[in-house]
Amino acid sequence: MFQCIGYAAQEATAPLAPFSFERRDPGPNDVEIEIVYCGVCHSDLHQARNEWQNTNYPCVPGHEIVGRVKRVGANVTTFMEGDLAGVGCMVDSCRECSSCRDGLEQYCEPGFTATYNGPEQKTGANTYGGYSSHIVVDKHFVLRIPENLDLAGVAPLLCAGITTFSPLRHWKVGPGHKIGIVGLGGLGHMGVRLAHAMGAHVVLFTTSPGKEADAKRLGADEVVISKDPEAMAAQAESFDFILDTVAAQHDINAYLGLLKRDCTLVQVGAPEKPLDVAVFSVIWRRRNFAGSLIGGIAETQEMLDFCGKHGITADIEMIPIDQIESAYARMQKSDVKYRFVIDMASLPTAA
Ligand code: NAP
Ligand code: ZN
Ligand code: ZN
Repeated sequence: MFQCIGYAAQEATAPLAPFSFERRDPGPNDVEIEIVYCGVCHSDLHQARNEWQNTNYPCVPGHEIVGRVKRVGANVTTFMEGDLAGVGCMVDSCRECSSCRDGLEQYCEPGFTATYNGPEQKTGANTYGGYSSHIVVDKHFVLRIPENLDLAGVAPLLCAGITTFSPLRHWKVGPGHKIGIVGLGGLGHMGVRLAHAMGAHVVLFTTSPGKEADAKRLGADEVVISKDPEAMAAQAESFDFILDTVAAQHDINAYLGLLKRDCTLVQVGAPEKPLDVAVFSVIWRRRNFAGSLIGGIAETQEMLDFCGKHGITADIEMIPIDQIESAYARMQKSDVKYRFVIDMASLPTAA
């Protein structure tokens, strides 16, 4: 074991604060990474505050991790000391179930091990995430980072990037499709960039009129202010696909009604309470309401390589870790442009 420092929530109502803990020394299949940057996902906030009612404390959030390899185990041939490496939302899975065999570890039937809020496969111990100095991860779950991209802007690709890339790919979004992205936050701004790069006609739905110019710069062809009923009515029954990234309660039926016959709305935003689906919004025109969870490891690598090829990174605001609580407060007000990234050089040396 070796000593690490991070930031943890000790309970739902406590602010995150410095926290010392131990991680395992790298085993034969492990890679130890010295973390350079970690993105701040809205899931970190949901989890730290126990909004999904399943948090194990202490909770060290963070699953958009990039850094440099420090040590590798004897069986690791794909990474060497000093290499760039990334870790996303998963650090392990059973490797045997049909989903794991299909490369869809996120749907592992007994359950994958999340990067934070575990439990670990063998020990059942809680896992601690990327708001920390180091992480030790099995080589199967370590990603290669394209060398041509800005490293801090790559961190959010490990969750926001793959969570939007995977459904866009699964539903085969491309040229000739009119697609909607709902919400311009961390996930939404990646969704706009990726769908634009895939050649779709992209319409961004936002509650924030001030984000219109940014949405166009990111690649949106049209921007609709979702609070404007006339602007919404003008889009009725015209979409081939919609990706909803909204983190709070909202009217999902307003978007289902924008789909063409047989088309699909995919929900990736995960509000704490259920969303009300009016049956006629799906019965009418045989529409589909689906969900999607992050993406598998092979697909995450494919997404990183796609971003390397197209020069895609996140728009970030870098923060020192002692500003995490004010970052969360701004995230709750939809005031993020468009992902906070923590500079791990700002960690204290002791808790
Ligand atoms: P974020 O940066 O906070 O963005 C969410 C956006 O939703 C906001 O910027 C805002 O965009 C919109 N929004 C917020 N409150 C709203 C409201 N009351 N009504 C309508 N729109 C509202 O969050 P994020 O990190 O992108 O995460 C989004 C959600 O996805 C979270 O719930 C997160 O837990 C979830 N998530 C799911 C997965 C998965 O695998 N399915 C993976 C990662 C994250 P506008 O200002 O443009 O309206
Ligand atoms: Zn996330
Ligand atoms: Zn499995």
